[in-house]
Amino acid sequence: MPLRPRAALAAALLIACSARAAPAQLELDVALDPGTRALRVEATLHAERAVTVMLHEGLSITAATVDGEPVAVQAGPTAQGVRSWRLARTGRQLHIVYEGTLAPLDRRADHRRVLRALPPMAAPEGSFLPAGSAWYPTPGGLFTYRVRLSLPAGQRGLVAGDLTGEQLADGGGGRTVATFEMGAPTDGIDLMAGPYVVTERIVERAAAGPLHLRTYFTPAIAALAKGYLDDSARYIARYSKSIGAYPFASFSVVASPLPTGFGMPTLTYIGEAVLRLPFIRASSLGHEVLHNWWGNGVYVDYRRGNWAEGLTTFMADYAYKEEISADAAREMRLGWLRDLAALPPGAAKPLSAFRSRAHGADAATGYGKAAMLFVMLRDLIGKAAFEEGLRRFWAAQRFREASWDDLRAAFEATSGRDLAVFFAQWLERADAPAPRVVSARVQGAAIEVTLEQSDPPYALRVPLVFDGADGSVTHDVELSRAKETVSVSAGGSVRSLRLDPDLRLWRALDPDALPPILRQWILASAPRYAVVSDADDVRGAAEHLADRLFESPVRRVALADTGNGPLLIVGLHAEIDAALARLGLPPRPAEVASRGSAQVWAIPRAPGDTPIAVVSVRDAAALDALARPLPHYGSQSWLAFDGRRALVRGVWPLRVPLTAIEN
Ligand SMILES: [Zn+2]
Repeated sequence: MPLRPRAALAAALLIACSARAAPAQLELDVALDPGTRALRVEATLHAERAVTVMLHEGLSITAATVDGEPVAVQAGPTAQGVRSWRLARTGRQLHIVYEGTLAPLDRRADHRRVLRALPPMAAPEGSFLPAGSAWYPTPGGLFTYRVRLSLPAGQRGLVAGDLTGEQLADGGGGRTVATFEMGAPTDGIDLMAGPYVVTERIVERAAAGPLHLRTYFTPAIAALAKGYLDDSARYIARYSKSIGAYPFASFSVVASPLPTGFGMPTLTYIGEAVLRLPFIRASSLGHEVLHNWWGNGVYVDYRRGNWAEGLTTFMADYAYKEEISADAAREMRLGWLRDLAALPPGAAKPLSAFRSRAHGADAATGYGKAAMLFVMLRDLIGKAAFEEGLRRFWAAQRFREASWDDLRAAFEATSGRDLAVFFAQWLERADAPAPRVVSARVQGAAIEVTLEQSDPPYALRVPLVFDGADGSVTHDVELSRAKETVSVSAGGSVRSLRLDPDLRLWRALDPDALPPILRQWILASAPRYAVVSDADDVRGAAEHLADRLFESPVRRVALADTGNGPLLIVGLHAEIDAALARLGLPPRPAEVASRGSAQVWAIPRAPGDTPIAVVSVRDAAALDALARPLPHYGSQSWLAFDGRRALVRGVWPLRVPLTAIEN
């Protein structure tokens, strides 16, 4: 899951201020009434040369002083929902009072929408004022803050930072007031409130003082608090040990009424429906905890690309797979390479251009390729130098903006190697290498292997696995030219070899060897769908599904249409069976047949054939139920659903090419 979306808008919300000196200090006294959606804020900003304040267009300044003297303010123009307010005079300390009525919580916001900019929103069941929504006057650059948050009885809320005081409403008309301080320079403030039950656990730490772990859960999921606190404590201990001490005095898991998960300093904000899923504590929670080091402990220098998602994915999601089994880790690497191969031509961007996940195509690079970069780097420099490099990077860059160059410097220092070529090729190039074995023959006691890759070549360390009667043996060979012959002593009994069958290299897999997955349809640049049903309700539900599923505009075509873009065929079970027979396509696969209310599969096809996937349903209601869940299963080849719930899913196997060794 991502860091909160903030960079784009935060950069635009600048109050003109002097070049970097000490971080600005912001104080907010916030009164929020989720029932009426009324927000009133008194803001005090210690920053020099403040002349323009940017606020969400729903908020108006009612009073302002500069250095204690009243000052005239004038509403300026609005751009992209944000209004600028001009102050007649500048000074060292700005105090403003502003208020307004927030937007109602957008309950229909889906995952994709939540990842884009949201306005500040309020409702009794949950309020979210995102850092990037201009709900407070941001000083620009990094700043420290103190927020005093007042809420009506029955509501609890928080911002990132350490809780320094809290007074609970004593029933009646009282209000709950909590004060938070963020002493580490940060770049935004997210505010969350809701009808929360707060559960707290205090963990004593030897050097750093007590750590306050909290859950802010609605009563409906309050019983999950213990498990989340246990696992939060476990993850914090794990990463404190491997990287360096957890840099804050608190960590909270906060339930969101919106369907998403964000990592912010000292907290994670995860959809309530997501928190209920049993696997979240085993993976996503650790990922979000780790963002307190990568992203919210060391900040991303976004001008140079986002390294934090890849490193967090590598040290959390991927590390947990490695702990399960080597096969589970390989499956995740295959997933990354499949995602790469599923990108339409030209859609891959260099890793240095990745900022945040706004689009599935970006995730393939920013998460998958970046995580694989760390797999390859650890293979190259060894586990000890790799782990020491991470500790060194943390110690040097804590609460600073850091780039890929800073990471490279840390790993160069601990490995004693020049890593310029390694980082340059994986960060700057948009393409992917596709090394292949041209031939292999016995030459005396050795085996000569000729390898090829496209020009300009990558510098690669290619694992070759030689198979023979006595088992398999792996040799890593260096390949740095477009065509190269290497000599390997592999023993007399080897008969064949495979190039990187364990998938430890970021590379373009042969598309013909790849199992088709649904992402090839979801991300297609010109997707098409055909409905093989005359029933109006099926046709309507199919249109709704197509709108939700495809990221590019989709065209409905007749089944006989002879285009060659990816095609999705939708219909009732009997109609689908008839259509498959008519088109000469393989019948419904056994993996999904007669399971659940809906079955979805991509058909493995010969190279050059139109990619075809099928959605086969019992009735229109079953089709309607797919619209929400199906877009989340892009990495699968086949699934069966019962209503909205996926019953079974899987990926067709990968074909690894085998080269026979000639005598
Ligand atoms: Zn993340």
